[in-house]
Amino acid sequence: MSTLPVQLNETKPLVLLIDDCVVLHRLLTLRLSAESLEVMATDSGEKGLALAKQYRPALILLDLEMPGMDGFEVLRAIKDDADLHETPVIVVSGLDGAEDKVMAFDLGAHDFVTKPFNLAELRARVRAALRMYSLLQMLSQRAQLDGLTGLWNRAYFDSQWEAEVARSARHGYPLSLGLIDIDHFKSINDTYGHPAGDAVIQVLAKLLAAEIRQSDVACRYGGEEFALIMPSTPPDEAGKMCERIRGHFESLRWARHPERSVTISIGVAGACKGAALSAHAWVEAADKRLYAAKQTGRNRVVVADIGGPLLPRLANAG
Ligand code: GH3
Ligand code: MG
Ligand code: MG
Repeated sequence: MSTLPVQLNETKPLVLLIDDCVVLHRLLTLRLSAESLEVMATDSGEKGLALAKQYRPALILLDLEMPGMDGFEVLRAIKDDADLHETPVIVVSGLDGAEDKVMAFDLGAHDFVTKPFNLAELRARVRAALRMYSLLQMLSQRAQLDGLTGLWNRAYFDSQWEAEVARSARHGYPLSLGLIDIDHFKSINDTYGHPAGDAVIQVLAKLLAAEIRQSDVACRYGGEEFALIMPSTPPDEAGKMCERIRGHFESLRWARHPERSVTISIGVAGACKGAALSAHAWVEAADKRLYAAKQTGRNRVVVADIGGPLLPRLANAG
């Protein structure tokens, strides 16, 4: 995951058609491709569900009457799936009784089109559903961004960090967390004013976004504190990267007050093969190192390897 969210609609939206009528596959693949959509088609509910999980389409067109798993079951499974439940589903069915429509809408269908359908109308409904989907995605992404810096916010950090810790524990992957805090920031505000303080926060955010790797996640953790999630990164490597960031930030010169350099302190807690620690305890471990960096003079990085044999010792030390 990149620091700044990728632009939506970079590629053609994918539409998944689940219908046992193969003639319809050809027709819709041809006609929807002309709308700049990528179309994937399958003839069974079971296969459709598996493809949806694998490819995460932007929209699903779903038949109701199919051998094996029918459309209602597929719809129920989609709406029960944490990764898929927001994907809009347009039911395209030969059934046109009110009961079937009510059932489909109650199960979470976005729209219901009866066969035989007017192609222009179906295409318009597809466009409308995709507009809604991209709006929803934009809103949910915006709710996870920090207004001042454009980095991910604390809410996003909490969910992402939890997921990374679980992944690292499950597979024994390396993982490191860096907590960054601007030194004597209060005095920057007091000396140069709050807007100057804001500008320092923004510059640090930009520097983080530029220095980290594609897979790292930089978040604004709180006022003048940032968190850096570094997946697949053992603590020594994370320490080197944070040291580079620290040095780079210290070397910046500020146009309005060139006489003053601003510095940061960083606490890093990482493990080479995952750690038997909760996400919360891991954050505390990084925070403890940040505190140590502050106590020992600021403008430094303190790194701890919290995995493997060190665990019992850390646990005893509280
Ligand atoms: P230390 O080196 O120990 O971290 O000292 P510090 O002064 O940086 O830490 P302290 O926690 O005492 O002060 C942090 C200050 O950051 C206090 C708060 O007013 C300021 N602050 C928090 N959020 C913002 C913000 O968004 N913009 C600005 N300009 N200041 C902020
Ligand atoms: Mg602070
Ligand atoms: Mg500070």
